[in-house]
Amino acid sequence: MIISLTQDSRKYARIVFDVIRIFLPQLHWQQLVGENNTDNNLFIRVDNSEVVIGFCTGPSIVEDLESSDENEVKRTIKLAVYRLFTEVLMYKASPWGILTGIRPTKIVHRFWEQDLTKEKITEILQGRYLLASEKAKKLIQITQLQRKYLLNSEEAKKLVSIYISIPFCPTRCSYCSFPAFSTGPNEVENYLQYLLKEIKGVGEAIKRSDIKIQTIYVGGGTPTTLNLKQLKILLNGIKESFFSQDTIEYTFEAGRPDTIDEEKLTLLLNYNVNRISINPQTMWAKTLQKIGRNHSPQDILEKFNMARNIGFKNINMDLIIGLPDEGLQNIKYTLGKIGYLKPENLTLHALAIKRTAKLKGQTEPYLDNQLDKMFAFTEDWCKDNGYLPYYLYRQKQILGNQENIGYSLGEQPCIYNIQMIEERQTIWGLGVGAGSKIVDTRDWTLINTYNPKDLIIYCQRIDEIIKTKVDKILGLG
Ligand code: SF4
Repeated sequence: MIISLTQDSRKYARIVFDVIRIFLPQLHWQQLVGENNTDNNLFIRVDNSEVVIGFCTGPSIVEDLESSDENEVKRTIKLAVYRLFTEVLMYKASPWGILTGIRPTKIVHRFWEQDLTKEKITEILQGRYLLASEKAKKLIQITQLQRKYLLNSEEAKKLVSIYISIPFCPTRCSYCSFPAFSTGPNEVENYLQYLLKEIKGVGEAIKRSDIKIQTIYVGGGTPTTLNLKQLKILLNGIKESFFSQDTIEYTFEAGRPDTIDEEKLTLLLNYNVNRISINPQTMWAKTLQKIGRNHSPQDILEKFNMARNIGFKNINMDLIIGLPDEGLQNIKYTLGKIGYLKPENLTLHALAIKRTAKLKGQTEPYLDNQLDKMFAFTEDWCKDNGYLPYYLYRQKQILGNQENIGYSLGEQPCIYNIQMIEERQTIWGLGVGAGSKIVDTRDWTLINTYNPKDLIIYCQRIDEIIKTKVDKILGLG
C-alpha cells in the first residue's frame, strides 16, 4: 500500500512517517511526500480544538486537541494516524502504541521527575500513548532501577564516559551493518597510531578541565582482534590518558571467542578492565555457520570458563532473537546452555537488518510466527533465573517491532549502557565512526557529533577531530 500526503499536510510528514511505518514498514519517505497520484492521499487538518486525518476519498478520524502546546499537537496527530490504521484500516495494534522513538525510557524519566506516581505513569503510558500493559510495566521497572545511576546536573558537569572504537573483526557476520574491517597487520598498526593520538589529545584536555571519567567502553568491531602487542599499546594509552581511581567501570568487548586466549584476557585484567563481553548470539552451531561466525558453541563455553578462572567477575553475553531459521526450540536450547554459565549481564537483541547487511532482503520468512513466543519465553526465562531488565532501546528495521533489552543478574547493571541510552552524561567517542554525546546539563539537551566512518578519512582528519573535541572540553568551542 502506498500512501502520500496532500501538499498542505506535508508539514506534518515527519510526525506521521514513523507511525505509518509501524504498519507499512516498506513505505519510503519519498512516497509519502512525493507527487504520487495514488488513491490513498492522506490529509491532516489541525485547528484549535481538533485534529482531523483521513483519506481524500475515504474515511477519516477526528481526535480532540487538549492544548496548543507543540508536543501535545504532535502526540494528537500521532494518535489520530494510529487510530486510522488500527480502527479504520484494521491493522494489528503495536504493543508500543504511538511511542516510535529509540529510547522510550526517556519519556518515563521525565514523568518520574515530575513526581508522578507509578500508577499515574502507567495510566499515561497506556491511555495517552496506547502502550500494551506489559510494555508499560517493563518501562516502569527499568526506569525505577536506573534512577539511582542517573547523574544530577552538578554531577554531570564533572563526570563523563569514554567510548573507544576498534573497527576490526576476523570475519563479517551476515547481519552486521557496522563499519567493521577485516584485519591486515598494517591497517591495524596504522589505525592505532591515529587512535592513540586522539586518546592522548582528548585525555590531556580532560585532565586540564578537572573532569573525571566514570566509565570506559572499548567496543567495535571486536577489540580483541588486536594481537597481544597491539592490545598492550592500546591499553597503555587508555591507562595513561583516561583510567583513574574514579573510573568505576571499564568494559572491553571480547565478542568473538576466536579472538581471545589466556594471555589476552590476563592482560586485560592487569590493565583494570573489569567487564568483558563474550557474545554467543546463539548456541546453535548451524546458525553460527550460517551467519558467518567462525566459532563453535564449545568455543564460547571454553572461553567463558577461561575468563572466569582468570578472574573476570562481570561478563556480558549478547544473544540475538530471530536469527535465520531459528524458532522457540533454538532459543530454549541457547538459554539452557547460557543458564549454566550465569553471566552477570545478558543482552538480548531482536534481529535488526539494516541496509548494508548481507542478510538484507532475506528476513521475512524466518519463523516469524514464533517471534512473539520466543520473546515471551526469553522474558519469562530471565525473570525465573534472577535477571532484571536494566536498559532498553528500540531500532528501526527491528524484527517484530520488538526491542533490545539488557538484563543483569541481580542488580549489577552496566553503567555505561544506562548513561549511553538515557543521554544524561557526556560521552566522548574516539576512533573511526565513534559518536560523541555532549550533554548540556542546564536542560539536558544534547549535541551528537560523529567521527568519520571511513578509516582513511578518519586518519586524514585526525588533527581537526582532536581540536574540535579539545575546544569543546575546554569550553572554547
Ligand atoms: S562481530 Fe559484531 S561488529 Fe564484527 S562483524 Fe560481527 S556483528 Fe559486526
